Amino acid sequence: MTKFVYTFGGKTAEGKADMKNLLGGKGANLAEMCLLGLPVPAGLTITTECCTAYYENGCQLPAGLMDEVWKGVANVEKIMGMKYDDAENPLLVSCRSGARSSMPGMMDTVLNIGLSSKTIPGMLKKTNNPRFVYDSYRRLIMMYADVVMEKSEGIEPADGKGIRKQLDDMLDAYKEEHGYKSDTDLTADDLQKLAEDFKRKVKEVLGTEFPDDAKAQMEGGIKAVFKSWNGKKAVSYRKIEGIPDDWGTAVNVQAMVFGNMGDTSATGVAFTRNPATGDNQFYGEWLINAQGEDVVAGIRTPNPLNDDTKNEQNKHMHSMQELMPETYKELCEIRTILEKNYHDMLDIEFTIQDGKLYMLQCRVGKRTGVAALTMAMDMLKEGLIDESEVVMRISPAQLDELLHPILDSSDEKKHEVLAKGLPAGPGGAVGVIALTSEKAKEYQAAGIKNILVREETNPEDVEGMRAADGILTARGGMTSHAALVARGWGKCCIVGCDAVKIEMERTSVSTNEYGKKKVNVEEIGTVTIGGKVFHEGDLLSLNGSKGWVYDEEVKMINATENPLFQQFMKLVDKFRKMGVRTNADNPEDAQKAIDFGAEGIGLFRIEHMFYGENSEVPLEKLRNMILADTLEARKAALAELEPYVRESAKGTLKVMDGKPLTFRLMDPPLHEFVPQTEEKQREVAKARGLDFEKLHARIEGMHEVNPMMGLRGVRLGIIYPEITEMQFRALFSATVELMKEGFHPQLEIMVPLTINAAELKHQKALANRVKEEVEAKYGTKFNYKFGTMIEIPRAALVANQIAEVAEFFSFGTNDLTQMTFGFSRDDVNAIVKTYVDEKIIPADPFNNFDRECVGELVKIGIERGRATRPELKCGVCGEHGGDPTAAEFFYKNGMTYVSCSPFRVPVARLAAAQAAIKEAREK
Ligand code: PEP
Ligand code: MG
Repeated sequence: MTKFVYTFGGKTAEGKADMKNLLGGKGANLAEMCLLGLPVPAGLTITTECCTAYYENGCQLPAGLMDEVWKGVANVEKIMGMKYDDAENPLLVSCRSGARSSMPGMMDTVLNIGLSSKTIPGMLKKTNNPRFVYDSYRRLIMMYADVVMEKSEGIEPADGKGIRKQLDDMLDAYKEEHGYKSDTDLTADDLQKLAEDFKRKVKEVLGTEFPDDAKAQMEGGIKAVFKSWNGKKAVSYRKIEGIPDDWGTAVNVQAMVFGNMGDTSATGVAFTRNPATGDNQFYGEWLINAQGEDVVAGIRTPNPLNDDTKNEQNKHMHSMQELMPETYKELCEIRTILEKNYHDMLDIEFTIQDGKLYMLQCRVGKRTGVAALTMAMDMLKEGLIDESEVVMRISPAQLDELLHPILDSSDEKKHEVLAKGLPAGPGGAVGVIALTSEKAKEYQAAGIKNILVREETNPEDVEGMRAADGILTARGGMTSHAALVARGWGKCCIVGCDAVKIEMERTSVSTNEYGKKKVNVEEIGTVTIGGKVFHEGDLLSLNGSKGWVYDEEVKMINATENPLFQQFMKLVDKFRKMGVRTNADNPEDAQKAIDFGAEGIGLFRIEHMFYGENSEVPLEKLRNMILADTLEARKAALAELEPYVRESAKGTLKVMDGKPLTFRLMDPPLHEFVPQTEEKQREVAKARGLDFEKLHARIEGMHEVNPMMGLRGVRLGIIYPEITEMQFRALFSATVELMKEGFHPQLEIMVPLTINAAELKHQKALANRVKEEVEAKYGTKFNYKFGTMIEIPRAALVANQIAEVAEFFSFGTNDLTQMTFGFSRDDVNAIVKTYVDEKIIPADPFNNFDRECVGELVKIGIERGRATRPELKCGVCGEHGGDPTAAEFFYKNGMTYVSCSPFRVPVARLAAAQAAIKEAREK
């Protein structure tokens, strides 16, 4: 028979810390603390496997479980010197949940189990403290009715009608009636009377009696904890945290110790180091004469644990260090023992019963990004952990947090979230609403922080996006234009926020004041967010890491200027084996990426020179090229465009001197660059002396039903070879000119959206001819690498043939995901959301790399490519290049490098290092 019950207590235990999967975090750590000889009330842990069996069994406890439990209880009785359900010397227990990975407050707990008309007299005699006994009893009734009799029975009362709330209201009413201010004013008689009233209320509301039988209470408690694994809160928390539904929770049944036995009793919660700053100070809170729930539930304001925990708000309150110096000293010793054993910062719960200290819980504590960094570097110095462990200690998300100014999470809690969208660009932003790019630029020029709010963004918005401090769009997904660009700039951005509705119309002009600055506000429209109407100039705060929008000012904090960060990144590179490049297409971003440690550029999108600052002239030339209706006219326009492409390439090649730079030939459908509205088309026609009807017809003629699968990528270069030729000439000339100036350009060119080797051969033939021409013109020979993107499933499958022409592969996982799923990158957001909610797919594949199929194609692509060309260099330049959860997959499958936006570079370096460390540890 499977063993479902593991006991602990009296300095021994059947479990230990590394048995979390079976015993849950709490159970495993209680066992470990016993093995460390710490004072832990004895108890038993019912395994997570039992929880799974319970659910498989149609919510029935497995046969024989209760016998095993009673055997375990006998062990507890022996250690504690008390007996469960005994009239003379009764033992009371708590029943608590404990999943593999902690889900704070998401599941249920029942305390004081075992109090009944049979055991109460014994308790009274034993403690000689009726107030305490009846206080414990009324707490048991409240918790048991709430957790076991209501929640676990699936009763869903209307808001405010839950049994817990009704009993709480009775307690408040009783206090008010008697003129009591605090719970501690209630006398033993009051509490005894309240307990009887509570029981009547429970019967009245729930239709069943509160069980006056200790044995029944025990079984009810255990079942209720199992049930709470599938409670609403727990289910949504698991979804957010990505915790699998089939893990199940363990149940810990543990002898009660009481912090509410009077003024020599207390309870507290502490962190072995400061979880916000990482400082090496014991940090915590405690309450005299209270039970644990009083501290966490915020019913009473807790006192500071010690001098280090005192602040402006609580400095007048007494600390444990002052009031119970001996016990505090003992707790400090435990702190040291625990840190030495776990080599980490721990979050602990303790209770003092009549002067004696007990440990009720310890677990590795949650911490901010700054704290994680500070602690890891400190612990390295203290010899608690080694260098590889330091690298493992900071999660990619925590590192990301360090790179962006963020909303202050403690201040954030004080405000209500107005709307939620997709967290496309991390960090935080606070500013006034700008509804157009022009307005965003105007605000920026006036030094006013602003948030660009748009239906969606298009290339014409780029300057406004640059000028804005944050971006909020109603539509779009994680790889939408706004998201991509914003992430590249490290800009806070929320996309796909359904609650945003924009209405544009011109109305009045007024003057508004921001601090001391006055600006004219032209009412050009309004935006409704979550039912509230806002105007330009109204304030919003964005949490781009979570996708949350506020309509109030939330405080910002900046965590970047930490010298520890530099030291940490040095350690990271010591362990990293996979390369990290960046996606950048201008000198500034390239420089930023180098500063963040990029080793090259993995993707320079040539078409980006036609967006944003200084793009007017080249865009004009590009349009001439697109709108040309003869080959001659097109060639003439291309000749005028070429110098701009050359100069743009030179600028970034210079910054990247000596480092590889992969240019990608122009990729998007050309119609993206021509004016779409009739108004704009008329403007262009007029400016160029063209016939509007003809121009309009030409643009209409370019219209495609499925532009993502139409004339784009390499197809452009095959239909219009002169476009590719111009790009080759510009890039080759840029390279030779720089060589002549003494630079060391490392040119790489790749062809997008390839489906077979023939396409590449076609383009390579052009390249060969242009190369000869350029070499002849400048009288200098040069080298470059010719490669391709792999972003269509077919290309991955014929990678062996493609590698005969391509010297390197770069996996465009954005398109590869689009083409594998048949999900349009630009439109599929709402569908994906429903798919994820309905569990049809586990996550948005544009955001979370799909290892199963897109990954399989990547694997096949690398394997087949290298079968032909063993030294083939392979990189990823889709957005997944910056996805830390995908890094391990890429590393394990032999990727040479990942390439991501500049601000993701440190995160990618960290993820790559962690993948290498994990592999070494597995070996
Ligand atoms: C890709 O498809 O992954 C890619 C990098 O190219 P783009 O996003 O420009 O289509
Ligand atoms: Mg692509």
